[in-house]
Amino acid sequence: MPPVQPDNPLLTPLQFLKGVGPRRAADLANAGLVTVEDLLSRFPIRYEDRSRLQLMTSLRAGQTVSVAGRVLSSGLRSTRRPGFKIFEALVSDDSGAIRATWLNQPFLRDVFKAGLRVVLFGTVEMRAPGGLQLTNPQYEILEDVEGEKAGEAVGETIHTGRIVPIYERAGSVTPKVQRKLVHDALQRLPPDLPDALPEELRARLRLPSKSAALLAAHFPPNDAPLEALNRFATPAQQRLIFEEAFLFQVGVLLRRRSASSERKTVEIGVDDRIRDSARRVLPFKLTLGQKQALKEIVDDLQRPQPMNRLLQGDVGAGKTIVALLAALVAMENGLQVAFMAPTEILAEQHFLNISRLLQPSRFRVALLTGATGAAARRRQLAEIAAGSLHLIVGTHALVQGDIQFKQLGLVVIDEQHRFGVLQRATLRAKGLHPDVLVMTATPIPRTLALTLYGDLDVSTIRDLPPGRLPITTIAKPDSRRSEIHAFVKGQLQAGRQAYVVYPLVEESDKIDLKAATEMADTLQADVFPEYRVGLLHGRVAPDAKERVMKAFVAGELDVLVSTTVIEVGVDVPNASVMLVEHAERFGLSQLHQLRGRVGRDRHQSYCCLVYQSPLSDEARERLKAMTDTTDGFEIAERDLRLRGPGDFFGTRQAGLPTFRLIDLVRDHSVLELAQREADQWLKSEAPTPSAMSSLLENWQSRFKLIEVG
Ligand code: ADP
Ligand code: MG
Repeated sequence: MPPVQPDNPLLTPLQFLKGVGPRRAADLANAGLVTVEDLLSRFPIRYEDRSRLQLMTSLRAGQTVSVAGRVLSSGLRSTRRPGFKIFEALVSDDSGAIRATWLNQPFLRDVFKAGLRVVLFGTVEMRAPGGLQLTNPQYEILEDVEGEKAGEAVGETIHTGRIVPIYERAGSVTPKVQRKLVHDALQRLPPDLPDALPEELRARLRLPSKSAALLAAHFPPNDAPLEALNRFATPAQQRLIFEEAFLFQVGVLLRRRSASSERKTVEIGVDDRIRDSARRVLPFKLTLGQKQALKEIVDDLQRPQPMNRLLQGDVGAGKTIVALLAALVAMENGLQVAFMAPTEILAEQHFLNISRLLQPSRFRVALLTGATGAAARRRQLAEIAAGSLHLIVGTHALVQGDIQFKQLGLVVIDEQHRFGVLQRATLRAKGLHPDVLVMTATPIPRTLALTLYGDLDVSTIRDLPPGRLPITTIAKPDSRRSEIHAFVKGQLQAGRQAYVVYPLVEESDKIDLKAATEMADTLQADVFPEYRVGLLHGRVAPDAKERVMKAFVAGELDVLVSTTVIEVGVDVPNASVMLVEHAERFGLSQLHQLRGRVGRDRHQSYCCLVYQSPLSDEARERLKAMTDTTDGFEIAERDLRLRGPGDFFGTRQAGLPTFRLIDLVRDHSVLELAQREADQWLKSEAPTPSAMSSLLENWQSRFKLIEVG
């Protein structure tokens, strides 16, 4: 089907631009660029100041420079290292010449033909005895030997003599070709280009118009500060980033509004009787952070719309009791509660804990997992359907199976970053509209919270229960393991318990399992012969696993050697040492989770990170972050910086929006501003229902979001 040229110039397909044939169109499409708008919505990766090209004679070692000149000669040179080749070109302008070399890029032979005019960008080095040299400079061929005669005059003003945008290469579309395309596309834009931002807003925030911003972001005026450009901090760039953030936040808020038409089946109230009942189960005074979070949750419970709230707090902040008090409110209102944990061990621990706490109440608690026998399961299901079981603890599969609740009012999901897309849909499909509380101990960096959880309310517990001593963290190479073992022994002698954790990487799980097993044997036989050492890993049968875990909880084991099954949630307050083997293999938030298993009582606790040298730069940064700080929020920010938003949540990141201009690490203040402005705008300017639904539809596909909540 031949493409049709639409009225909106931004929607023009790129193949209508001069110089875009089927090959380039395909390469551009592969890079996600189909329309003129796509092309213009893609910032350069950096900007180069070619307005003052330096003369070759003026170059000094250490300077980062752009120079332009003609290739005098070039050739490939072997080095003493076999298989290692250096490509060398001599480039001269009217004033002099400089040598440029590239390692192992023999194909450059076909690029740097004598007589070509080129631009080089890089750092000047002094290489005795040959003088100055550019090593691996960025390069751009300005024209063919024959000359791009027709385009030459224009070419000169687009590609040199100014601050030029450098784009990421897309297949056959080189940065230079793309620069030309962007330039042509900008020329074709009408001066009255529609602006997605409301006029009032633009005027108040003094934002440049859309067309002015596009122009200046791609072809900055020569007096634009290069440093600000490369930080994407000029008014033009900021306006375009803001626009994307604003449209995104408007969509988030609209989606939230349309979801708020859902109604709970039973209304929840809170009175003095319920407050008393809560006081009776509470074993300690809540911290300020816990009180505030509880208030936010209970306020939600009393609204007619189902709650959708994320409770975040560092490991050990005391989220469980907050969730349990919320559960109590629901149960006092005649509703049932499903309490879900990611693993059976955790479910079991919650069950024991909750049963103990609810002892003084009339509510009945059950544990329902894969390990529950068939007969017991049948009995429990009948009781759940009859409503005589009030709180059911289980794994995340709990609400997905064949369970019929009499009156499900609240779902608590522990240790999950995001309530699974499917789970909420499953609930709705079953005609259930319960309140939902998701808990996570991986604090969400502010920017991610703004985007990823835009449609969840977030409560944050920032304080820790009183009396906790900050955990002391040390990192040591494995050559010094025996010192660490001596230290651990001291802790065991003082009556404490210790975890020893091994990484388990899927591809090598046999080797790792063997390493963990051998380490457990060695620790028992040679290192801590007078103490009891237990072993826990994924291949241990469920009942054996349970026995080991229970023994450790009961203090019948002193040392628990384990793969990462203990990562989340496990609570053994007497444990004071977390020894992590191969710490270099763990992710930062994983390490932080592991560390959170200790320091849960009044004794000083320790986290010992044993690593194998040499460390990669990233592993070094991770270990440094761990020894620098125990603040989970700080750790999360650093983790985000190290890994980037895409990897931050691993595979659990479903729902992370695809942004074209926004960088979640760089642009958090813009996102915050956009959220406030979007909220205000929607309040003052309520769009019609049809405008709203079309906005939402565009929004879903634009940011590639899946329906959630
Ligand atoms: P997390 O937020 O990591 O899930 P938990 O809910 O497991 O933390 O709580 C950690 C430990 O702190 C538990 O042993 C719990 O009983 C205890 N705890 C929680 N809140 C308080 C408090 N306000 N005062 C004293 N101890 C508390
Ligand atoms: Mg927990």
